[in-house]
Amino acid sequence: MPSDYLSVALDVPLPRCFDYRAPAGAAGVGERVIVPFGRQTLSGVVLAVSETAPDFTGLKDIAAAPGDLPALPADVLALCRFCADFYAAPLGMVLAAALPAALRQPKPWSGDGATLLWQATDADALLARLSPRARKQRQLADLLRTPQTREAVREVAGDALRWLADWQAAGEVIAVAPERRTGVPRQAASPQLNAAQAAAVDAVNAAEGFAAFLLYGVTGSGKTEVYLRTIAERLGRGEQVLVLVPEINLTPQLEARFRQRFPDEAIVSLHSGLADGERTRSWLQAVRGEARIVLGTRLAVFTPLPALGLIVVDEEHDGSYRQQEGVRYSARDLAVWRAHDRKLPVLLGSATPSIETWKNATEGRYRRLNLPLRAVGGAVAPTIEVLPTGRTALQDGIHPLALERLRATLARGGQALVFINRRGYSPVLACNECGWVSGCKRCDARLVLHLGDRRLRCHHCGFECAIPAECPDCGNIDLKPLGQGTQRVEDALASRFPDTPPLRIDRDNTRRKGSLEAMLAQVHDGEVRLLVGTQMLAKGHDFANLQLVVVLNADAGLFSVDFRAEERLFAQLLQVAGRAGRAGQPGQVLIQTRYPEHPFYAALLAGDYAAFADEQLAARRELLLPPCASWLMIRAEAKRIETSLAFLSALRGALSGMAVQAMTPIAASMSRKAGWERAQLLVTAPTRGPVVAAAAHLATLLAARPPKGVRWVIDVDPQDV
Ligand code: ADP
Ligand code: ZN
Ligand code: ZN
Repeated sequence: MPSDYLSVALDVPLPRCFDYRAPAGAAGVGERVIVPFGRQTLSGVVLAVSETAPDFTGLKDIAAAPGDLPALPADVLALCRFCADFYAAPLGMVLAAALPAALRQPKPWSGDGATLLWQATDADALLARLSPRARKQRQLADLLRTPQTREAVREVAGDALRWLADWQAAGEVIAVAPERRTGVPRQAASPQLNAAQAAAVDAVNAAEGFAAFLLYGVTGSGKTEVYLRTIAERLGRGEQVLVLVPEINLTPQLEARFRQRFPDEAIVSLHSGLADGERTRSWLQAVRGEARIVLGTRLAVFTPLPALGLIVVDEEHDGSYRQQEGVRYSARDLAVWRAHDRKLPVLLGSATPSIETWKNATEGRYRRLNLPLRAVGGAVAPTIEVLPTGRTALQDGIHPLALERLRATLARGGQALVFINRRGYSPVLACNECGWVSGCKRCDARLVLHLGDRRLRCHHCGFECAIPAECPDCGNIDLKPLGQGTQRVEDALASRFPDTPPLRIDRDNTRRKGSLEAMLAQVHDGEVRLLVGTQMLAKGHDFANLQLVVVLNADAGLFSVDFRAEERLFAQLLQVAGRAGRAGQPGQVLIQTRYPEHPFYAALLAGDYAAFADEQLAARRELLLPPCASWLMIRAEAKRIETSLAFLSALRGALSGMAVQAMTPIAASMSRKAGWERAQLLVTAPTRGPVVAAAAHLATLLAARPPKGVRWVIDVDPQDV
């Protein structure tokens, strides 16, 4: 019985593949196999098939080749490989991230069958390449002019599945949908585009091959409408479209809008909030080419899409495109790489583009498409004002003028939102007698007061305890909450506006599935007119009657050690502002600040993100900060800070001779977290190459000799510093 020798990627934190033996033709490149690994059984992905045995004794047989996973196509394998190389992550872990959980289990998938059909991309070209004497191969190539099942392929010859795998790896054969639809999709009524939208749509539709576009326009300027039109164009060509959105919460809204526009099209969403079975089924529909629009969060960037024609990344600046655990990748950056690799257009939309994208657009690598106006006739941009809080007595943390405007708005029948980026009742409980404050024992952080269930909670490690009856240090029983959180603002507003009771929306009261949707429905119905919320409310939600937004603690973002903090704050404030005044009514935004003179607010009031971004970019260039330099951060944590620092110093030593600059390791800005002492080592270079090489070098080193008592993370292109 002839054997194949498989090189298999497994979801283990080791930067290498593992060899196994399998019956000939059992599994091809990109297919899933179940294998023994030590005492466990794991699911893995075949990366190479060879007829010659590796020089290795003790080679094991695979446990099974379930054949339930359509082989990952060559382009997705290439994307995963790029991701693994760039972010110094084991390929097996990247592949695991690329597959839905049900297909990572070491047992066959029992859901709906995944009958795949295979077809030559260009049968004549394939035949021309094959030797005239390879009779059986030629017969197979000829057969593949039309879609064929695996069984049909197997009948041609004993080796036929292996040829299929090779051809697939070379892109000569692809998995196809049972039937590929073409023709202009039926579209529900759509508005007449304005000139800027029409120009943007034309530019994207005209793109042949790779082209990256930045669609730059404030909320309400009609970006989504541009997405819909360019998507319609690609659907008309029989292609698939991948649309990435930052938040799970936003997919139902957008999905509804897409379904409304394309009532006959198969649209699937892919995000981590779906049950395993549902996600796997949606994924298989995408892989088979049945789903024509795939709407998903960052993990969807890896979805195999045989007929992909366009990638859209909505809110491209959003931090949630960055995976911060396990494999640390940027889905936005991978989307651009994928578009480049597959030679197709990618459309990045934002009102506040990341400085990375801004740089690319400024330097001409991306083409900038401007939507300078609000799309809806008559809608004007909201007026933004700052309210200096330094010398005014606040009432429960709210400026008297803000209270007055709230009252006026509610009296007019309008909706108002009070935005504060801190949940809980107040950020800290304090003793006025001795100065004690509620601190977390395991972190350099304060315990937040939650009055609802009378607990103190750490928002960093999850530690919680009952509210102490008296000061633990001096016994004073009169402990006072200091500062504002969403709950305290809710209380304050409830007593001031009894006729329009406020609704609070934050992470604490929206954990249950469906609860956020239920609350948003109340807002849309106009049942609720006064809202208190965190950044959860800043994104995407379209409240037609919202006329006033009050922002309470904006300053927190201004004096951060993180050089991206101002950029994020600008994006967030503009996004909150964008909620106001969408459908005809003018919107008003009031921002309370202790620092009205700060240049940041001048740029914000002018509403000129372009000027702000130009300035940020110039400063980054001067200071050699990303994206005008490339960064790598090694984070380490141990029970003692000396251990973390010593570990990083050793790594720094291991980089000598490489074309990078490694700084002195320092304690992290929040150095104690959940009982671990954290430190970081920053490595920089003018360009990406040396930084990626340094990351790979360290990953190899650490895999060969794993340190004891230290946890570490290699973070290429770190997003928080
Ligand atoms: P964005 O995605 O930039 O926030 P949208 O595409 O959602 O903007 O547009 C905002 C609102 O304006 C939506 O209600 C949309 O239906 C409407 N709209 C968009 N383009 C036009 C247009 N050309 N004419 C009329 N209404 C439009
Ligand atoms: Zn005290
Ligand atoms: Zn803590």
